[in-house]
Amino acid sequence: MLLFGGDYNPEQWDEPTWAEDVALMHEARVNTATVGVFSWSWIEPSEGRYRFDWLDATLERLHRAGVSVILATPTASPPPWFSLAHPDALPVRADGTRLVHGSRDTYCAAAPSYRQAAVRVATKLAERYAGHPALAMWHVHNEYGTRCWCDHAAAAFRSWLQQRYGAAQPGLDELNQAWGTAFWGQRYGDWEDCLLYTSIPACSTGPILLCTASARARELFSSPLRAALRSRPRSGAPERWFQRPVPRRAPRLRLRATSVP
Ligand SMILES: [Zn+2]
Repeated sequence: MLLFGGDYNPEQWDEPTWAEDVALMHEARVNTATVGVFSWSWIEPSEGRYRFDWLDATLERLHRAGVSVILATPTASPPPWFSLAHPDALPVRADGTRLVHGSRDTYCAAAPSYRQAAVRVATKLAERYAGHPALAMWHVHNEYGTRCWCDHAAAAFRSWLQQRYGAAQPGLDELNQAWGTAFWGQRYGDWEDCLLYTSIPACSTGPILLCTASARARELFSSPLRAALRSRPRSGAPERWFQRPVPRRAPRLRLRATSVP
């Protein structure tokens, strides 16, 4: 069957509009709606307090209308209460500037508080809706492009590098060789020397570090959420599958620095 539809955000509209939405979907032959992409503040209006009445009603209304639901983890847009309670989870730019709350994507995927809160809300959704007849698939996170350069991210990046190259000295030697750190005297003598910031005075290891950090960032986003959703019972419901599968391993990079004009 061809799925036809798009994102649907009923929380942004009033109840009379919801009925009209369904009628228009029917008229347009829409058979699938992605729900909840940015709904964290609606689902968890304060820490640990969940509200599902509007989401229950949405899934029931769509199901009655023959519209399947792709249910999203709302993890790409933490609520204001989360950012205020966990300022260390606000993203930091490559130049070290920490951003403030006020839009979507205000999170650091490496911050323990964010990772725990994201898994918690994804687990709540899975527990409640894994067996719902409207559920067609899960939409895990949204647009894996939010980057952070904070100390959490740097520590996670170093840990990831040690897994790839080996934590002992031969591993560090291999990293220095692969990254061409002999150029301009940038050889790392210790893993702690390897920082994540790429706002640097001149182009040296920056591009290599940026490419490698990008590979690591892809892995940061989805693995705990996918695990949380997979751990839920399916209650005899049809096979659920995940939108946007992410490679289990980032490609191994073998870059060498070349001369820079
Ligand atoms: Zn961060």
